[in-house]
Amino acid sequence: FVPLGLLMAAAGAGLVIWLSRRRLSMRGELRIAIRRRELYLHYQPIIELDTGICVGAEALVRWQRPDGTQVRPDLFIPLAEEAGMIAAITDLVIENVVADMRELLAEDRSAHIAINLAAEDISSGRALKVISQRMAGSGILPQQIWLEATEHGFLDIDRARTMLAAARRAGHSVAIDDFGVGYSSLQYLQQLPLDALKIDKSFIDAIGTESATSPVTPHIIGMARELGLWVVAEGVETEAQLAYLHSQHVQFGQGWLFSRPLPRDEFIAFHRKRQQQ
Ligand code: C2E
Ligand code: CA
Ligand code: CA
Ligand code: CA
Repeated sequence: FVPLGLLMAAAGAGLVIWLSRRRLSMRGELRIAIRRRELYLHYQPIIELDTGICVGAEALVRWQRPDGTQVRPDLFIPLAEEAGMIAAITDLVIENVVADMRELLAEDRSAHIAINLAAEDISSGRALKVISQRMAGSGILPQQIWLEATEHGFLDIDRARTMLAAARRAGHSVAIDDFGVGYSSLQYLQQLPLDALKIDKSFIDAIGTESATSPVTPHIIGMARELGLWVVAEGVETEAQLAYLHSQHVQFGQGWLFSRPLPRDEFIAFHRKRQQQ
């Protein structure tokens, strides 16, 4: 049997935890998490489809609460943007990429890490300064840092153009992310200085299905080729998708077929195994 006092104490403790959870809104929790550096990165390998070589990774932020539960970035990133906390997160991401990856990037000069930029990072231009400060003395070359931005970041097209041009002058490559899901993707392709196009997972999902959306995918790929952009297919999950992308001469792929996003050490091991001999 369990003593009544113990039961009551446990219930009391549970109540206290529940109450403090409620009082601390997720926004407040996130603020504390940033301060306590509870955010960290996973790295999802990017594969050269022709050779199977791992050419780098996309850095994806993770948040694990002290109680062990995870909060998904598609939940807390928009919250951070609303609450004016995104610049702090981007800073943390940049700092972590440099700390986690400097050895690997020094060892394999052809490898790169892609960092996601939020709209505010692009309009303020601050992220670019933080990257150059953090990179200084790290041994990482600018061309080893790629920047990914979605359409949300391009609403002020003039600022976006200025920032992306500065990023490329500094030596970074710039990718348009989630390509094809927004309203104005085509317009941005023409107006922005870009190096790469990441085809959104929804178009990759459509490959091999009877769905009427699949005919769009070859046009996106063809257009990117015309414009001289690298193409990265995201969310590749099946061999059939891979075979199709191969047949369309898509250069790079990322997805669970190759690997899930990995903790630093696991990514480094993965990369070592799949490097050019
Ligand atoms: P995203 O930039 O489009 O990142 C790709 C997302 O697809 C990641 O989700 C990744 O885990 C997931 N994914 C990759 N391959 C597959 C696959 O084969 N199947 C499926 N079902 N999913 C796959 P994640 O890590 O949950 O990130 C979600 C979004 O949160 C990202 O979408 C990005 O918009 C945002 N995000 C993540 N990290 C950062 C960051 O450091 N900064 C900013 N600003 N946004 C970030
Ligand atoms: Ca991305
Ligand atoms: Ca994406
Ligand atoms: Ca996406």
